[in-house]
Amino acid sequence: MNRRISLKLPWTHVDDHYIDGEWRRSTGDRRAEVVDPSTEEVWGSVPEATLADIDAAMAAADLAFRSGSWPRLTPSERATYMLRIADEIEHRAEPLAFTNSRENGAPLAETKGAAANAAGVFRYFAGLADYLEREDVRPFPSGGAESLVRRDPVGVCSLIAPWNFPISLVVIKLAPALLAGCTVVIKPASPTPLSIRFVVDAIDAAGVPAGVVNLITGSGAVGDALIRHPLTAKVAFTGSTPVGRKIAAVCGELLRPVTLELGGKSSAIVLPDADLDAMSAVLIRSCLRNTGQTCYISTRILAPAERYDEVVAMVTRVVVGAKLGDPLDEDTVFGPVATKAQFDTVVGFLKSAHEQGARATTGGQAADVKQGYYVEPTVFADVTPRMRIAREEIFGPVISILRYETLDEAIALANETSFGLGGLVFSDDPVNALTVAERMDTGSVGINFFASNHSAPFGGRHDSGLGVEYGVEGLSAYVTYKSIHRKANPANQGR
Ligand code: NAP
Ligand code: MG
Repeated sequence: MNRRISLKLPWTHVDDHYIDGEWRRSTGDRRAEVVDPSTEEVWGSVPEATLADIDAAMAAADLAFRSGSWPRLTPSERATYMLRIADEIEHRAEPLAFTNSRENGAPLAETKGAAANAAGVFRYFAGLADYLEREDVRPFPSGGAESLVRRDPVGVCSLIAPWNFPISLVVIKLAPALLAGCTVVIKPASPTPLSIRFVVDAIDAAGVPAGVVNLITGSGAVGDALIRHPLTAKVAFTGSTPVGRKIAAVCGELLRPVTLELGGKSSAIVLPDADLDAMSAVLIRSCLRNTGQTCYISTRILAPAERYDEVVAMVTRVVVGAKLGDPLDEDTVFGPVATKAQFDTVVGFLKSAHEQGARATTGGQAADVKQGYYVEPTVFADVTPRMRIAREEIFGPVISILRYETLDEAIALANETSFGLGGLVFSDDPVNALTVAERMDTGSVGINFFASNHSAPFGGRHDSGLGVEYGVEGLSAYVTYKSIHRKANPANQGR
């Protein structure tokens, strides 16, 4: 059933940012449009933050950090708010999903889980309150004295997100920042400035004090102004590798801690004993999630020569069988790509693949539609390691299948890109699969499936980033350590 007709979204054309606990009209009149990539219709617009808006948001976050209650609450008290935020986000699940789908074309099947996932992240980090509260006393190895190790909040954090998962890629920064006692200014990506308002609205409804969370919209220039702002103490960024490099350079100069979750080009190694039926059931989620616009998916499949044709046939069959269509239809698997710019990029990669001799077993072109940024879901066989589609991040519904002769060659192929974010091993032998997973030079690898685990660190090696999110390791990015040394004394016990 087409749900387009039932849409009634609370926010379409807005003129405000969320600053110091209230929706405040922008001080400027420059605006940016929000486009539905499935229809090319402009259905919303937001203000471009001015320097005065940026200063106001940063000043609110700074005041809330220096003299507000938030950093002075105990982690358990902050966790109570976070549990309330989780419930409030879940109450907003449906309009959030529709808004997200209209912004970036992600199918409802994807965006309907966004609120529950965000709530899960808030609840997971709320559960780490006692990790922060645990007294950490470390004796000097030489004896006679001890150190109290304190984890203080790092300060005002600038959180900058991309458009592919506009809720979860903010929340995996926001939740640990809030638990740690930080205050934040959020800048969503230009294509997706509206769905994040549901999270901010939930935070407002949960009674989080004014100034702790601020949201401003605008272009990359606004992001640049935020990361350089003198009141920013830490930067957390998810986005492309080229922008990540620029941000790292600025943060290096300013000696400002930064977490970077960047691009990827991950490989699925299919071992000769792999169960291809089982692989077919997880293929789209693991290799083409969100119309191929997911950083960690394994869009590069490495198949053993003796089963190459079988793998190509299975992958082609699964991709042919998945519906390309209106993101607001419940049974759509592939939507449009999110923006015109991304559409042009993906079509450029298709062209290069044809020119370099790859063989499309399905798709291979822009889709033949009257409107919308649709690309045919595509499988390329006979891909060789030097082709652009084998090495560069495409960020569209395109799979490349490469051939290998020996296991060592497969692992070398998996490890030769400049990235190191995700990866997969398909095998029926758990011991062998683990050995292969251990040899892959990447931040995460799945055996026969891929999913991120809120309690396990997630991050990229090499051009895929710096630092990790999720887990206690992800929380550590929002704390700064202080060691208080003192002479060991029985009177100190319990203090
Ligand atoms: P992007 O172009 O790098 O933009 C990301 C964010 O940075 C946007 O909010 C963007 O604003 C902002 N920005 C642009 N230039 C900036 C600058 N000079 N200083 C500060 N901020 C700036 O990435 P995208 O196109 O939105 O997202 C796709 C990329 O994200 C892919 O490469 C993908 O692999 C990566 N990604 C990585 C992960 C991960 O966890 N490793 C997860 C998801 C996506 P505007 O939108 O206004 O330009
Ligand atoms: Mg961009």
